[in-house]
Amino acid sequence: MSEVNTIEKVNKLSVFDEVSKLGHEQVVYCYDEPTGLKAIIGVHNTVLGPSLGGTRIWNYQSEEEALKDVLRLSRGMTFKNAISGLNLGGGKAVIIGDAAKIKSEALFRRFGRFIQSLSGRYITAEDVNMKTSDIEYVAMETSHVAGLPEVLGGGGDPSPVTAFGTYMGMKATVKKVYGNDSLEGKKIAVQGVGQVGTYLVEYLKKENAKIYVSDIDEEKLDRVAKEYGAVVVPEQSLYDMDIDIYAPCALGATLNDDTLSQLKCQVVAGAANNQLADERKHGKVLKDKGIVYAPDFLINAGGVMNCYAEYIGGYKREKVYKQAEKIYDITTNILNTAEKENITTHEAALELALKRISDMGKVKLAF
Ligand code: NAD
Repeated sequence: MSEVNTIEKVNKLSVFDEVSKLGHEQVVYCYDEPTGLKAIIGVHNTVLGPSLGGTRIWNYQSEEEALKDVLRLSRGMTFKNAISGLNLGGGKAVIIGDAAKIKSEALFRRFGRFIQSLSGRYITAEDVNMKTSDIEYVAMETSHVAGLPEVLGGGGDPSPVTAFGTYMGMKATVKKVYGNDSLEGKKIAVQGVGQVGTYLVEYLKKENAKIYVSDIDEEKLDRVAKEYGAVVVPEQSLYDMDIDIYAPCALGATLNDDTLSQLKCQVVAGAANNQLADERKHGKVLKDKGIVYAPDFLINAGGVMNCYAEYIGGYKREKVYKQAEKIYDITTNILNTAEKENITTHEAALELALKRISDMGKVKLAF
């Protein structure tokens, strides 16, 4: 009886319709009764190499919501990896459930076995609610893992590299708008002072920017305000403040109808994934308002560069920073292309990523 119900539910979701919309190669449902594991792995595209993207643990309201999230996130990884020049395709995984309740060694090891069964088509790493200690359990069952701590031969926390890449992308965008890339005296609002946000604030402080911060976590706000002299602002006031740069470093979809009607800055450059609620529509609104948007999947790629360096072996942090530094030039190239072709910066970034996949696809290097 319960089996029939599950099948009916899956049919209602129209999984194949969803999968075909975004052009995925493979979607794997992982279920294990003893550990309670319910996970979905999305392999979007492996033309450039094995798919890589983190595992997110989230208490989704429905299986449909989980499927949509993994499809959207894995597609995003395809473009991020492609535009960054990495020999990686795009993938992502979600584990369904409350992170505070479902975690166990057995669950993560069972999940590791599922990843291993894909023979390297998907490589995992940390994402929301997935800690390094969790990844260590996954790594007991599969070698297709990145994001391990340095003591275990990994590249450690990718957040500092993500922040550095974001900083590079921000500077390149500032250069385009103001003629030079100095952030001195620029009023910059950083939304979310978690891992990446705090490292970013550190770079901004060194350049004597005027830093404004918002977060839902009071403790983090206090710490950043004290340590870096940042001014704390309430979440909602951040959008209509008179600032130069808005740096979303918390959630996705903060560039939407509501916020864009208020936003007065010149530049948007931050680390959050999927900042545009609607890629086409809101990319265009930003363009029409004369706000220059540094595409998120381009400037937040430092973290995946770190994972890639770890995965291919011989990890050297300095080498990864050198690679992340190139985000400056790639951003400049994208902004110039968008201007020349009169398209949005998001479209220009997508074009470049798709071109690389198409070019490399023709030389028959499919993984
Ligand atoms: P994090 O969880 O350490 O930090 C996120 C911060 O945002 C937290 O301090 C949280 O309290 C805050 N926050 C949550 N909701 C908020 C709200 N409504 N308003 C203001 N603040 C809010 O995460 P992180 O690793 O710093 O990542 C930040 C963003 O960058 C995420 O969108 C993540 O997907 C993206 N990203 C991170 C990496 C990485 O290397 N960590 C790489 C690429 C992209």
